[in-house]
Amino acid sequence: MTPLTQTVREMLPTARSGGEAAEVTCSFCRGHGTDPFGIMSWLSTCCVCGGSGRVRVSTPYRSCVYCRGTGAVKTFTCTVCRGTGYVPLLPGPLKPCPDCRGSGADAASALACMTCRGRGWVSQEGRQ
Ligand SMILES: [Zn+2]
Ligand SMILES: [Zn+2]
Ligand SMILES: [Zn+2]
Repeated sequence: MTPLTQTVREMLPTARSGGEAAEVTCSFCRGHGTDPFGIMSWLSTCCVCGGSGRVRVSTPYRSCVYCRGTGAVKTFTCTVCRGTGYVPLLPGPLKPCPDCRGSGADAASALACMTCRGRGWVSQEGRQ
């Protein structure tokens, strides 16, 4: 009798350990399978998921900070997560990126931070 636990589990993306892949809802089109910005046509298929509304990401993964998990930066596909809204986690302990302070964005260039490649976090050992 734990209805609350059940609800939370359904809302969370499936997370498995061991470098597997999980299928998640495409963040760019929010699962609709169509171009969210209607650049070609409102009816054209989403370039991220190919129209399926679902994308596969390596596990474990984390929501992309650069696009805030939306898969889009302005009307472009996010270069950090390739539009999925999720980025695979690096193995080992992580810390917030010292250069962008975890935002994933380079304030000077308005592009993705070079140090963390837009992830917002880096390996604690200093390796990437
Ligand atoms: Zn899509
Ligand atoms: Zn992103
Ligand atoms: Zn950074």
